[in-house]
Amino acid sequence: MSKRDEPLSRECRPCTACCDGWVQMTVNDVPLYPGKACPHSTGRDCDDYANRPHDPCVEINCGWIMPDSPLPDWMKPNNAKVIVLFGKLRWRGLPVDVAVPVGKRIPPRALNWLKDFSANNGRPLLFSEQVDPGKGFEREQMFSAHGPSEFQQDIAQLIASGKALW
Ligand code: SF4
Ligand code: SF4
Repeated sequence: MSKRDEPLSRECRPCTACCDGWVQMTVNDVPLYPGKACPHSTGRDCDDYANRPHDPCVEINCGWIMPDSPLPDWMKPNNAKVIVLFGKLRWRGLPVDVAVPVGKRIPPRALNWLKDFSANNGRPLLFSEQVDPGKGFEREQMFSAHGPSEFQQDIAQLIASGKALW
């Protein structure tokens, strides 16, 4: 089964990337973040699938599992080591896609695919990595912007001001 209620052509199992804290979210009042997985994640599945909360477990909007996903099969998060959230925010009327690593940083093959997709589809991209890859996993992430120079400048200003990106 996928995490969604409706049948999909793709299955989550054995991926548990979103359950394992790579997307920061709160499940039943338990915060998940890099290095802090959901207690129900077995690393291959959810051990309380029938009782998983709709928000966020079903609503996570993972770009690989969503219907008509443009992501190829090999970009499954447990394989490509990236979770893509399409249209997570908007910038000057354009949808902005967000990519977070499953690990310390997004591997080059996946990041290059995402940059090409961004350029070919006119969709600015925000992607993150651990602030200090030499350390253990930390909650704080460092974001980079890919796309029009104005987008990169706007994001740099937002980050410098300490405001939330979304
Ligand atoms: S990251 Fe995507 S494919 Fe992996 S478990 Fe979460 S929803 Fe499923
Ligand atoms: S409750 Fe289950 S589906 Fe939801 S984050 Fe935890 S392991 Fe994943």
